[in-house]
Amino acid sequence: MQIIESPVEMHGWALNARREGLRIGLVPTMGFLHQGHLSLVGLARQRCDKVVMSIYVNPTQFGPAEDLASYPRNLERDKALAEARGTDVLFVPADREIYAAGHCSLVEVQGPSRYLCGASRPGHFRGVATIVAKLFNLVQPHVAVFGQKDAQQLAVIQQMVRDLNMPVEIVAAPIVRETDGLAMSSRNAHLSPEERREARVLGWSLRAASQAFAAGERCAGRLVKIAEAEIRKSPLARVDYVSVVDREAMTPVEEVGDAGALLAVAVYMGRTRLIDNTVLFKGGVSQE
Ligand code: AMP
Repeated sequence: MQIIESPVEMHGWALNARREGLRIGLVPTMGFLHQGHLSLVGLARQRCDKVVMSIYVNPTQFGPAEDLASYPRNLERDKALAEARGTDVLFVPADREIYAAGHCSLVEVQGPSRYLCGASRPGHFRGVATIVAKLFNLVQPHVAVFGQKDAQQLAVIQQMVRDLNMPVEIVAAPIVRETDGLAMSSRNAHLSPEERREARVLGWSLRAASQAFAAGERCAGRLVKIAEAEIRKSPLARVDYVSVVDREAMTPVEEVGDAGALLAVAVYMGRTRLIDNTVLFKGGVSQE
């Protein structure tokens, strides 16, 4: 596995690979890798000749009171995991190279950024769209893989690619979970043993609402109440939002129609904010 730190070198590598007719797959991450991230490498591998994983904890997507400084990091371990999973290039740029002095261009995707995490974390998706646009320019991918775990992020990127005519195919990867149903996340490392045990309520909330949906419940307000009741079973949990939204527009719906909807939750377990979601779609309960 090749490790590239310089954006100029990354771009040169990409142009060369394209000249050779190779298909490039990109997996953008913030590192502290787990099986969720590595599953994305597998999907990129199936579709491409070369897989580039980026590891960059992007400061512009963190609010001033958020966990940028304490975000978990372990580059040596990440290198071993990425290589073992068949990554060809690990792109690990430095902050000063990505955001040079005087940097003042930001990508703002309005529609799907508005609710859910966009409401709780002002400016978050502007930071995400900006770094992803930069990575697309530097890595020149044919395909980029994003996890459904961050369903709103995926919707924002799909909107950006459509709106700005970016020639990149966006692939959605299913959510990878721990055996007790907790969605894998780098931030799970921050949970105390007690918080980790009680974090199961996120999965329970999605399951309870999915079961009610499968039994015929279509009212978003009632599905939200069912999910919230499960979250309240943990005294350590504090709801940021529980919401039923359109799967693409990410706008709240009152009833789940034939197109289905997304049930999304954000919950603080102690000081750690966790998100999870599930698709409500008639004809089956789906985690994707
Ligand atoms: P992050 O490092 O948290 O920014 O995540 C990098 C990519 O991995 C994003 O596209 C995430 O949606 C995806 N991802 C994170 N956790 C999971 C998971 N449990 N299952 C599937 N994809 C995930």
